[in-house]
Amino acid sequence: MTTTRFAPSPTGYLHIGNLRTALFNHMIARKAGGTFILRIDDTDPERSEERFVDAIREDLEWLGLTWDREERQSARMDAYLAAADTLRAKGRFYEAFETPTELDLKRKKQLNMGKPPVYDRAALALSDEERDALRAERGDGVWRFKLETTRINWTDGILGDLSIDAASVSDPVLIRGDGQMLYTLASVVDDTDMGVTHVVRGSDHVTNTATQIQIMEALGKSAPVFAHHSLLTGPQGEGLSKRLGTLALRDLREAGVEPMALISLLARLGSSQPVEVRETLDEVAEGFDLSQFGSAPTKFDEADLRPLSARVLHQSPVTAMAADLSAAGVPDDQAEAFWAAIHDNVETRADVARWWALAQNGADALVADEDREFVTEALAMLPDGPWDGTTWSAWTAAVKEATGRKGKGLFMPLRKAMTGQERGPDMASFMAFLSPPRMLG
Ligand code: GLU
Repeated sequence: MTTTRFAPSPTGYLHIGNLRTALFNHMIARKAGGTFILRIDDTDPERSEERFVDAIREDLEWLGLTWDREERQSARMDAYLAAADTLRAKGRFYEAFETPTELDLKRKKQLNMGKPPVYDRAALALSDEERDALRAERGDGVWRFKLETTRINWTDGILGDLSIDAASVSDPVLIRGDGQMLYTLASVVDDTDMGVTHVVRGSDHVTNTATQIQIMEALGKSAPVFAHHSLLTGPQGEGLSKRLGTLALRDLREAGVEPMALISLLARLGSSQPVEVRETLDEVAEGFDLSQFGSAPTKFDEADLRPLSARVLHQSPVTAMAADLSAAGVPDDQAEAFWAAIHDNVETRADVARWWALAQNGADALVADEDREFVTEALAMLPDGPWDGTTWSAWTAAVKEATGRKGKGLFMPLRKAMTGQERGPDMASFMAFLSPPRMLG
């Protein structure tokens, strides 16, 4: 049974980078008919906030990325402590007392000598008396996992065969001096206890994966399939980390980005498959293939979202727009015809209300100086309402007849006069909703 999880820390709002991780894991589970777990990684009580937990759920719901099960690390401390005991019993866990300053000094010395800054395991050489003395002086130490200094190999779902020399990695701290359980161990216990079969996450976790594979082995568990997707960069290849705060999913939602635009883009970006707008998650999942993704950093351009969102809306049936049409004030019995008139001319849902208000209130006519006389004459010929689907062609035919204008020179000034804009809905269908414009100046 395929089981995946998305494991955000509730220390901020989800951003576009998180979405990539959530989506990949969701797609794998969905495609296989498996289970998708939302796991809240809240082992850090100082940085975790309940409002972010709520925001994470809300953002995922907005995207339609439903989960089958929710877990919280803060509720599973007993399981982590039991795993810590197992590691201790197996001689793979040791207490170390160096202060951050001491560790920093060690690292600097190693670097000066041209050596990799790997923890020297000085704590392993402490006698019981020395350890007791240090504990009395400094309080509890940190607990480090003793890596076996072999190579750690796995076949990554995206990066292919990977091999990391454990000798180049410091023994990871799994429990802090203040007793706080760290994510590295908690995640291993969760992934193995919950039967997670595939872990997809950012390539910044590759070293983590190497150590977690050894921890899983030490606990007598088997490792899931790991896959590490490349990190997103800006359009020029610049790092996104500083900008991610401005690429929060809720801000994109606020800006009118459609969920299926985000999903359609991020489920393909960085793969060899083209980005195509899909209507449902199932359609996106169907073509989703992890092996099509490459290891190179993936360029993300926020500007791509606007045309994709517009395309999503152009394809939306009126049923998907009912709430927006009704909120804009469109009467139910006109909703279908009005949506048919404007659907190709909306970029965001906010445009529904904009077109409706314009239609109902009438536009300020947009008139070029050289067209003023022509437009005045034409508007004087506007038939009395109510207008319908035949009004535009009848009116423009009469104006053509009277003025001799035709083609673009006829239609463009009339569109601009009627809507106050150069571009907009098909006038034949839009006329049924339009009010006469105001001539200014
Ligand atoms: N809470 C971790 C993070 O947000 C989860 C990483 C993982 O997927 O294991 O980075």
